[in-house]
Amino acid sequence: MNKCYLKQMLTYFFKVYHLAEKIKGLKDGRLNLQIETSTISFIVLLTFICRLKSFNRLEHWLKKERFKNLFPKKTRLPHIDTIRRSLSSFDINGLNVLHDHVIKTIFKNKVFRNGTIDGIKVAAIDGVEIFESNKKSCEKCLTRVDKQGITHYFHRAVVCATVGSDPHIVLGYEILEPKKDCSDKDEGEITGGKRLIRKLYKKFHHFADVIVADALYCRASWITEVLAIGMDAVIRVKDERLHIVKDALGLFQSR
Ligand SMILES: [Zn+2]
Repeated sequence: MNKCYLKQMLTYFFKVYHLAEKIKGLKDGRLNLQIETSTISFIVLLTFICRLKSFNRLEHWLKKERFKNLFPKKTRLPHIDTIRRSLSSFDINGLNVLHDHVIKTIFKNKVFRNGTIDGIKVAAIDGVEIFESNKKSCEKCLTRVDKQGITHYFHRAVVCATVGSDPHIVLGYEILEPKKDCSDKDEGEITGGKRLIRKLYKKFHHFADVIVADALYCRASWITEVLAIGMDAVIRVKDERLHIVKDALGLFQSR
């Protein structure tokens, strides 16, 4: 990325989103802090901005002192191991607070005043699998055994993001719960989705005019939930469920 452009972008982030102060509030679980958590957080943010694909790449950049000019002169920059230690004990709550602050600022500054599609503010909701691994796991992992008998560990989340014109903003996410003792099923995506839009409404109020979802959400309970927070639901129904489409077309004709 062009250095001048990066500098302009960071200045904008700091001025409009108060990113520097917010990053200073982040914490991790390391005991004797020789390197500030804020320094590490800022480097990780730069890693995302510069789209570095791996920690190996980041290590290379750190060795080449690529980030040096972006910090005050006497700042000690971390080794990759310190970054790993920091991230593995990171206070996720602080990150969520920072994220909420960014979203609130986006709404306050009316970034979406012209809507995202034809003057309408549209958000989409969908389920994703995250942190898939067949080696590492935690007590809250969901599992799946493949044809070779290998157990895969992963988490599932429901994500809500704006769609249409840029910028595409991730408004929030909700991690789905693994099965509880009394049940043999993991939490369903719709249950998580409902929890997510209720949470987003509480935090940001009218965060969208329309919520778009795939055929999985073609349930009365979902539509009622969306209408209850004063938004409209659009659901994409796939061709295999043509009887629903036929029914709808029949009904629309008599309108
Ligand atoms: Zn896990």
